[in-house]
Amino acid sequence: MTHAHLDHAGGAGFLLADCPNATVHTHERAAPHLSDPTQLIEGTRAAVGEQWQYYVEPNPAPASRINALTDGDTVHLGDRSLTAVAAPGHALHQMMFYDTTEDTLFTGDAAGIYIPMQDRIQQTSPPSQFNLETCLDDVRAIDSMAPETLCFGHFGPRVYDDELLSSYKRALVEWVEAVRQKRVSYCHLMSHCLTQESYLAKREGAKPPSSSSNRRERVRRGYSAHTRHNYAGSYA
Ligand SMILES: [Zn+2]
Repeated sequence: MTHAHLDHAGGAGFLLADCPNATVHTHERAAPHLSDPTQLIEGTRAAVGEQWQYYVEPNPAPASRINALTDGDTVHLGDRSLTAVAAPGHALHQMMFYDTTEDTLFTGDAAGIYIPMQDRIQQTSPPSQFNLETCLDDVRAIDSMAPETLCFGHFGPRVYDDELLSSYKRALVEWVEAVRQKRVSYCHLMSHCLTQESYLAKREGAKPPSSSSNRRERVRRGYSAHTRHNYAGSYA
């Protein structure tokens, strides 16, 4: 299992129940969230809002059936083995898995979302641990491995192509810049509204909301609501 986001980890407990000889191999940071999915559920609910109605709560996985991995560990699968490669940009608990026999890399969300119909990669939306530089480092790590095939968590296999990954790196940078600009314009809007509110309050003889800490708190609350609204629909 590449990482403990519900769209990747939610089925693990059900699969373990149906496959009594199976073991889950995952990052040591992801392992506790499989045996106790409380935080996984809360985090997903907070991120997806009303879309939670489409989710099923995960089954806890018995800790005895989880193999916690660190970077460079090998998972032996009989006729082949997988090498675990830490990829913390999308989530600190993310691992990619490299199949040495097939020269294939299972990327989780480290290489974004591949859309086969358009043969392009789209950025994944930002979980709380998103870090642009670390995300770019993960893509550089894939470039240095240059496997024959990439297997995306979303959606399917694609022959490795450094041009395709370069376009993903550009998409990440442009996306972060677009979010930054939206935040700046929203803060300007909030500041303008508060100035108008002050003016009206003065005109009506009421005490204006002049405390800077009060103002900061109101801007922060408004901003948080704005951020939730914008990202709630696209968590991956
Ligand atoms: Zn994810």
